[in-house]
Amino acid sequence: MAFKTLDQINLRGQRVFIRCDLNVPLDAAGRVADDTRIRASLPGIQQALQQGARVMVTSHLGRPPEGTLDPRDSLRPVAERLAQLLRTPVPLVNDWLDQPFDVAPGAVVMLENCRANPGEKANSPELARRMAELCDVYVNDAFGTAHRAEATTEALARLAGEACAGPLMASELQALGRALAAPERPMAAIVGGSKVSTKLAILNALAQRVELLIVGGGMANTFLLAAGQPVGKSLCEPSMVDAAREVMATLKTRGARLFLPSDVVVADAVSETALPAIKPVAEVGGSDLILDFGPQSMRRLVDELEACKTIVWNGPLGVFEIEKFSHGTRMLATAIANSKAFSIAGGGDTVAAVNQFDVADRIDYVSTAGGAFLEFLEGKTLPAVRALEDRAR
Ligand code: ADP
Ligand code: MG
Repeated sequence: MAFKTLDQINLRGQRVFIRCDLNVPLDAAGRVADDTRIRASLPGIQQALQQGARVMVTSHLGRPPEGTLDPRDSLRPVAERLAQLLRTPVPLVNDWLDQPFDVAPGAVVMLENCRANPGEKANSPELARRMAELCDVYVNDAFGTAHRAEATTEALARLAGEACAGPLMASELQALGRALAAPERPMAAIVGGSKVSTKLAILNALAQRVELLIVGGGMANTFLLAAGQPVGKSLCEPSMVDAAREVMATLKTRGARLFLPSDVVVADAVSETALPAIKPVAEVGGSDLILDFGPQSMRRLVDELEACKTIVWNGPLGVFEIEKFSHGTRMLATAIANSKAFSIAGGGDTVAAVNQFDVADRIDYVSTAGGAFLEFLEGKTLPAVRALEDRAR
């Protein structure tokens, strides 16, 4: 990966347009409910301000229809929170494509929700050209939207005078590259969650790279079925059995291994009140639901991970939202946190589990970038990243 980074460009007096991911949750009163993404975006903005740039920050928020802006989709609360965190005023600029506005060197403004601009989603070069006229330097610090080619993430990167990655984008790509492009071996990947069908591309891509593939969660049941094991009433996709066999075959051809549970936690319902039982996989009954890895599987898994130098994790091992089915995922999170391996974890529910088990600061990189993270695991080149790379050629 080769792209310019913010620190490689002289920003003094320059008009700098930073595309952030400030798509934060708002509460019922319209206040910022979780400012993690705003805090994560501070280093790039501060770097530009300290260098005396004229800084414009924008982001999408929610899903506004293009051409109108409902007050509920306004970045106003985000601008206010950013102003508090930066301890500097952050005026919100409306109609920024049509009304002239001024930004002094060393000052910052927020440009209203970029997804309300007609042409944003369609990656319109015409829209991007108008945005390019507003700035000398374009900075993409929004890894979370890097899998979408939109005017502020893709076309603008090609048309602005200068284009570079912000520090958040650069560190995310560096961590993902270290785990996937040039991993220290042996490398293990844990892919869990609900269904094979939603993660088949990830399973196939990782089967090409790892020494050990651990399949967990509901999708492990489809692999167990493919291996001729009973799965009772568990979540399972018989139509994906052939796809699972292909993943198995890929691993085998490469001399890599598949890890499936040897014992499991079963119950007759996915509920807080269901009575859990631990069973060897071979003894799973016709009315059982497999809802977690069992203790013997977890001991084996923890041992296996100890030998690994790189660990990639996406997807819980069981129904971790319910305490009695969360032990496998908790032990996995702890094992990754304790491991000396370079470790990355990502995915919506995986990040929830990482936070629930309080291990975020002991995993080398926790990606909060949902879709972009998953597409990166699939081995896809993200359009926004490709645009930055093309500019650096
Ligand atoms: P992520 O968001 O991290 O990519 P997924 O969305 O693929 O993860 O999967 C998370 C969901 O999978 C959770 O809601 C969890 O309850 C569910 N799940 C895990 N194991 C099982 C299982 N054995 N049976 C049914 N659902 C499961
Ligand atoms: Mg999910």
